[in-house]
Amino acid sequence: MVKKKPVRLRPYYRTRYAYQKLRVCKHCHHFTVLWEDTCANCGRHALIPVMDQAAINAKRSMQTERLSALLLTLVAVLLSQTFLQIAVCLGGGLLLTVLLWLLQRRMLPSETRRQLDKLLHGSQRLILEGIYLNLSTASAAIKDDEQIGYEILREIATIVHNDRIRLQQIVLLQSFVLRKDMDLELEPLLIEDFDSDLAAYIGEIAKVKRELIKASAIRYLLIHERYILQMKQGASIMTAAAGAAVRMKKYVDMYPDFIRRYARGLPRERFLRLYQIVRRNPDQSWDGLRDEVSAIYNEKYRWDPDFQKWE
Ligand SMILES: [Zn+2]
Repeated sequence: MVKKKPVRLRPYYRTRYAYQKLRVCKHCHHFTVLWEDTCANCGRHALIPVMDQAAINAKRSMQTERLSALLLTLVAVLLSQTFLQIAVCLGGGLLLTVLLWLLQRRMLPSETRRQLDKLLHGSQRLILEGIYLNLSTASAAIKDDEQIGYEILREIATIVHNDRIRLQQIVLLQSFVLRKDMDLELEPLLIEDFDSDLAAYIGEIAKVKRELIKASAIRYLLIHERYILQMKQGASIMTAAAGAAVRMKKYVDMYPDFIRRYARGLPRERFLRLYQIVRRNPDQSWDGLRDEVSAIYNEKYRWDPDFQKWE
């Protein structure tokens, strides 16, 4: 087994929308999801968030509309034959331009969103090219610095959702020493097929950050249980997940059979937690889980003072 490395991951900023991670070069329209200062394509300091670019585009298109209104006014004035006509055209034209400007000010947010849509849809090829370049930066980085490689993949994964990127992330995560204070994630990394690195990662998360073990992760383990149990540490992965699941009654209600099968292997502190849930809910049998918990209690913890409080 490869020796795991201690790492300190840089904080990961979650954004409400995936596009908020995307920046574009004002100069050459190259896109990136990374945090570099200069454009990887043209080398200039011209990267701005796509939303800023959309705002620039919106203001530019509104400016064009105002200029057209003024131009129209000018043409009308030039075609006028009397002083009254000139005055009416000039006054009317200017008034309309001011009204247009007021209207545009109110429309700016919605126009910016429209321009953003247009920018993202119209630049799909450029965005993909940018992300490919980001990916090649990632694979170059992975060779000599797995941590940077992982951080780059984590950014790319906000925009591109595919299993190849998830698996690469999992493999890299498996080369790190995981700690509770790390900004770790589990649900976005789940794939459909069985993967031993993913199973091992879930087992570790169940120990260091058990709040990340939710229904989807438990479902993954149950679907692939047969293969997981063929792994050397398979049983301990399943047991660790059961230990994480008993933090909430909800999961005992959802997966009583799973918890029953691994209850015997739970460490004392996790079994105590399960025992408390069982004692607090005297009318539930949970398909035999209650009997199994009583049997384990009688065998191992009868004389344990922490358990006596629940008598
Ligand atoms: Zn550029």
